[in-house]
Amino acid sequence: MSLALQSLNDPHHHYLRSRLGDGRGADLLARVGDTPLVRLSRILPPDLSPDVQVWAKLEWFNPGGSVKDRAALSMVLDAEERGLLRPGATILDASSGNTGIAYAMIAAARGYKLTLCLPANASPERKGMLRAYGAEIVETDPLEGSDGAIATARAMFQAAPDRYVYLDQYNNAANWQAHFHTTGPEIWRDTGGRITHWVAALGTSGTFTGTTRYLKSRNPDVQALSIQPDGPFHGLEGLKYMDTSLRPGIYDEELADEALFAPTEESLALARRLASEEGLLAGISSGAQVWGAIEVARRLERGVVVTLLPDGGARYLSEGHLYGGGR
Ligand code: PMP
Repeated sequence: MSLALQSLNDPHHHYLRSRLGDGRGADLLARVGDTPLVRLSRILPPDLSPDVQVWAKLEWFNPGGSVKDRAALSMVLDAEERGLLRPGATILDASSGNTGIAYAMIAAARGYKLTLCLPANASPERKGMLRAYGAEIVETDPLEGSDGAIATARAMFQAAPDRYVYLDQYNNAANWQAHFHTTGPEIWRDTGGRITHWVAALGTSGTFTGTTRYLKSRNPDVQALSIQPDGPFHGLEGLKYMDTSLRPGIYDEELADEALFAPTEESLALARRLASEEGLLAGISSGAQVWGAIEVARRLERGVVVTLLPDGGARYLSEGHLYGGGR
């Protein structure tokens, strides 16, 4: 089928294709989104009601390897459309990892420079990937975590506002809108509208916010459950414990029907089991997502529970949590 025909038949393709144009990485970047939704089986408790299904969306199928391709591309296209971002310009933001890698891929393909603030203790795999894509890395105090990276990016922008296009993923509506236009519709389509519960963990909150708004617009009875780590000192990279973090401007506490708090050890154990019992080599935060999905599934007599696995496990192998190895 020709691309033109495909875009007429596929709203996702149309949403991206029409904004990407023809050149500058358009074929690569049109592959962002439309990720597989798979049903979990062996990892679920044996006493679950037979009328409850649990599904997971595999976000490492994105070309930059994580869910953040969606948000990063949406923020870049939005800045282009508003005339802020022109070829050769320098994008600036803070990221603990995945957004940075997504920006770096997009910047390379579309001809932008990227300056990224990230905590100095980010894994060697992450820094290596960023450098391979040609990004400039500004390392920030590891003790201050992602909030330290945010403060540094803000200060750099304030000191030289003409030098950078600061995308500010925590306060940029194009972040959650990416999920309203892609993740939500894909889940609705792939479950045939049968989804009853949507469970997702919070980083910037973009994934949860945009997907929840879309799903509730289709069916207000869909229950949305957010997941945070169960305390400020956790090992769940990419997630935020909101009470003690800088609050993302796009975070809307009222949106969740219920807030869940994932314990780190159980989440790590589930991330390991995703690989060894489901064949899904997922990242650490995926363990928290599946912990939440199982918590919800246990309570139900019938239902279709959907969660999302934000990235793949290859990014975390040097940390050793996924197989007991390590550096
Ligand atoms: N898991 C991982 C591994 C992530 O990198 C992120 C993004 N920070 C999330 C979950 C949460 O996604 P969001 O920012 O859309 O809330």
